Amino acid sequence: MGIVICPKHGHGFLYNCPHLVAAVVAHSPLPGVEYLEYAPSDDPAFLIGCWYCPACVAAHCLPPSGSVPFDSEKFPEGVSPLLQPMCPECFRQWRAAGLGSRQDAEPGAAADRGLISGS
Ligand SMILES: [Zn+2]
Ligand SMILES: [Zn+2]
Repeated sequence: MGIVICPKHGHGFLYNCPHLVAAVVAHSPLPGVEYLEYAPSDDPAFLIGCWYCPACVAAHCLPPSGSVPFDSEKFPEGVSPLLQPMCPECFRQWRAAGLGSRQDAEPGAAADRGLISGS
């Protein structure tokens, strides 16, 4: 974990799930991405946000942003390894290209879910 140094954009930092990192690097579409952030119970202002693909949200039954502290027993296990740092500008350009559209903007997105299984 640490600051990402992008050959194109320099320093930056953003958490994405590993599937999103792969999609951005490959410049391939991954619809239905969601930004969720959670804070520890003793410091509600310290939000740790991450972009997740629909498979990660489904696999871990991720609760709505901020609804559960990440040190709570209710917080899904196995989420922290999903937080992969990457260049925020690369991610922004990937979204700007329409490759990471939100699910609510794309009703047919569910049909694409199979693309990210089978790893
Ligand atoms: Zn994922
Ligand atoms: Zn970059």
